[in-house]
Amino acid sequence: MSWHILGAGSLGSLWAVRLARCGLPVQLILRDQSRLEAYQRAGGLTLVEQGRPQLHPIAAQTANDPEPIQRLLVACKAYDAEAAVARLAPRLAANAELILLQNGLGSQAAVAAQAPQARCILASSTEGAFREDDFRVVFAGHGHTWLGDPLDLSPPGWLNELERSGIVHDWSLDILSRLWRKLALNCAINPLTVLYDCRNGGLSEHPAEITTLCAELGELLETCGQPAAATDLHDEVLRVIQATAANYSSMLQDVRQGRRTEIAYLLGHACAAAQRHNLAVPHLRALHTRLVQHLNAHGLPSQ
Ligand code: NAP
Repeated sequence: MSWHILGAGSLGSLWAVRLARCGLPVQLILRDQSRLEAYQRAGGLTLVEQGRPQLHPIAAQTANDPEPIQRLLVACKAYDAEAAVARLAPRLAANAELILLQNGLGSQAAVAAQAPQARCILASSTEGAFREDDFRVVFAGHGHTWLGDPLDLSPPGWLNELERSGIVHDWSLDILSRLWRKLALNCAINPLTVLYDCRNGGLSEHPAEITTLCAELGELLETCGQPAAATDLHDEVLRVIQATAANYSSMLQDVRQGRRTEIAYLLGHACAAAQRHNLAVPHLRALHTRLVQHLNAHGLPSQ
């Protein structure tokens, strides 16, 4: 059975190459005819590992291809996922499975609403990849991917294909807790790195702000029914700041490169959840307002 992969960006390419090179059938789904032609001119996907580039001529098509889709890896940004899946909905088989790689929360529910007949498997990954050029991706950091389905705890039959492909993973019985925890870490670190325009380590100069945000985030997680995700959040935030002190956060990299951020699915989602529960989170809200103003001032969308 084919792996259809929507989006030949950083993570989509990383998955596509590893699945294809162990002999599994892979079909990339590209944005439109002009992207498909650019891909054909490039001759395939290039993955750079340990400084060594290798070209992989993986098959590709657009959303207009008539072939039915049984298994779809959704590898676009959170803000593109709903519309991208809506376009593919007529091609999805009755028992299709979607694997959603998007960071943050909110896009998964929007995608599920577009494909009510499909099983949606959520993923949270610590792997790192970036685009060096069109259809050329660097595998920057080995990591782990957790997959899970809050509506059906039974693992899908294809996990052995990930095993064979060297995609290090675990089936998680509480994937929502993992996604909320990652969202909370992101909310405590990334927006401040954008506002102070600093590396993660620069946040050690703002301990009081971090402490207050972690307290509000912990309360929010508990209110949202995710107490496990709140456990020792402040300690982990401090550990991450220290361990990644020399790094620029993904959000700051996006802003510096004039790219849209996933704010709506991270801090925006946290503030919206607090509002739904009538929970006062004044510091998170103020942080959101400052970040929105900052993005607007840089001509970037704040949604
Ligand atoms: P990316 O490099 O920007 O790639 C996204 C790809 O999706 C692009 O190639 C884009 O096409 C494509 N796309 C968008 N709309 C499409 C459509 N309608 N049809 C077909 N293709 C479409 O993004 P990424 O870094 O892989 O991130 C994907 C998700 O994974 C994000 O939510 C991110 O937060 C998460 N994540 C990423 C990493 C990482 O290391 N990169 C790690 C963990 C989690 P074009 O090339 O035509 O623009």
